[in-house]
Amino acid sequence: MVAYKIAVIPGDGIGPDVTKEAIKVLEALQKMDETFSIDFKFFEWGSEYYLEHGKMMADDGLEQLRKFDAILFGAVGDARVPDEISIWQLIMPIRKQFQQYINMRPIKKLTGIDSPLKNDSPIDFMVFRENAEGEYSNIGGRLYQEQPQEMAIQNTVITKQGVERIAKYAFEYAKKNNKTKVTSATKSNAIIHSMKLWDETVNEVAGDYEGIELESYFIDALAAYFVMRPESFEVVVASNLFGDILTDLGAALVGGLGVSPSGNINPERNFPSMFEAIHGSAPDIAGKGIANPIAQIWSAALMLEHLGHPDLSAAIVSSIETVLQEGEILTPDLGGKSTTSQVGDTIVEKLKQQYITK
Ligand code: NAD
Ligand code: MN
Repeated sequence: MVAYKIAVIPGDGIGPDVTKEAIKVLEALQKMDETFSIDFKFFEWGSEYYLEHGKMMADDGLEQLRKFDAILFGAVGDARVPDEISIWQLIMPIRKQFQQYINMRPIKKLTGIDSPLKNDSPIDFMVFRENAEGEYSNIGGRLYQEQPQEMAIQNTVITKQGVERIAKYAFEYAKKNNKTKVTSATKSNAIIHSMKLWDETVNEVAGDYEGIELESYFIDALAAYFVMRPESFEVVVASNLFGDILTDLGAALVGGLGVSPSGNINPERNFPSMFEAIHGSAPDIAGKGIANPIAQIWSAALMLEHLGHPDLSAAIVSSIETVLQEGEILTPDLGGKSTTSQVGDTIVEKLKQQYITK
């Protein structure tokens, strides 16, 4: 029996609701399966904590998290706290300090999901978003405030090493999974310093992978191709901002933000990786009990896969698919009338049935 220590940060808005369901599923699974156990430790960090203590997490927060095998993260974002504080004092420090430079976001249409596209071909590709540098930097500043010439400068940081490691990760993934092609998102026609370094470096890495084609598209055209022919993508590699936008778009093609998971991965395993739905705290539906927990439950499945249990991960995804296919217990974002916890309960029920029949 392997025993895992998982840090849970439920966070704000719908974060706690969907995280509760993910834990429900993991607990049900560990009761059925004797090969692993999980010890959860909860950290009540987030906007409430900020309003009380003037900071988003404890001073030694990163030190505390470091000891865990992985982190399950809800979401942050609260109208009473500026977004730059909630994002830059909680998620960003974790992603950056723990060198979670890979943000893996599967864009996969599960059976039972209706795509908004007329062309209903299968969609199944992986987006690797650079997660540690790029456009999401706090370097820059504001000048001449409240004067007519007021201006802001926001610097993008692209390092050769940073691009190399994400590109390699994408190509290695392609190789391991018998993919034939990696698509790179760029904009080197207009963003001529950082994106040119991106292109050159991705090209160099591609040279080491015979048999895997590299295609490169400008981000604007690529966004259009996502909609026009999503079935043609296998592996996509993108900078922090481009990957962020592309994956919300990708999510929309496969059922929306309510079903799309992600993992913030530290490939060297020097630090814990962090798993979270790609959506935010969804203030418009917070407190109503109707958030779709599937994205977070699927993120928990990615966590199990990362910990070395692809079979258990697949069992969770298969239970999600059964619930989607039956189409009876769904939250409003998928056209249903059920609550967050009803969806969680039904996924647990399917997991139990499938586990017994296995
Ligand atoms: P959002 O993802 O929270 O919501 C966008 C839309 O998707 C909303 O209409 C919401 O109701 C819907 N939605 C999202 N998740 C859903 C779910 N599980 N089930 C059903 N519907 C769902 O994005 P936003 O509105 O742009 O941002 C809200 C807050 O979240 C902001 O404060 C933002 O900074 C923060 N945010 C945090 C993260 C994170 O924690 N990693 C990511 C994105 C946004
Ligand atoms: Mn996002």
